[in-house]
Amino acid sequence: MESLKNRTLLKVIVLGDSGVGKTSLMNQYVYKKFNRQYKATIGADFVTKELHIEDKAVTLQIWDTAGQERFHSLGAAFYRGADCCVLVYDVNNLKSFETLNTWHMEFLKQANPVEPEKFPFVLIGNKTDVDGGNTRVVSDKRAVEWCGTKGNIPYYETSAKENINVDEAFLGVAHKALSNE
Ligand code: GDP
Ligand code: MG
Repeated sequence: MESLKNRTLLKVIVLGDSGVGKTSLMNQYVYKKFNRQYKATIGADFVTKELHIEDKAVTLQIWDTAGQERFHSLGAAFYRGADCCVLVYDVNNLKSFETLNTWHMEFLKQANPVEPEKFPFVLIGNKTDVDGGNTRVVSDKRAVEWCGTKGNIPYYETSAKENINVDEAFLGVAHKALSNE
């Protein structure tokens, strides 16, 4: 965590399989926009959002991938100095839930935090809107159980498309990141 004048700068990285909605969640949160397609951006590494938490001015610096998550090859700069890691899966896609273990391990290996068991993670189950929930394959109970096995990671369910619970999830992320002081 760095200080920027009187603001606290928090680096947040977002991980998860390609297609789960990582870029959509960030765009909805920061720009209040949802698009069907995003071009893989080259060069622009992060977006920022300013907020106030308990009288503290906080800048969330949220890092997105440019599609390299397909190859699990995110560079060292991506992981360096992260204050919180947001893991995202798609509630309609079992594989994206099963890969969470890999992302969780990969983060700890690459970022190598001082106290791995205390490092703040947040889990987001996205795309709850799809087909009114009829195509859902991972229950909230199962997701919460997984969070329990990783030291009680906070869990949020969102729809980036319908803008459901997105602000709440990132507010939770900011609180978690601040707790890493
Ligand atoms: P990323 O690869 O994890 O960054 O995923 P994207 O943000 O690029 O999203 C992949 C696809 O899923 C795009 O077509 C999005 O429009 C779509 N998508 C993302 N979030 C949602 C959501 O909450 N609901 C629905 N129905 N589609 C979504
Ligand atoms: Mg993306």
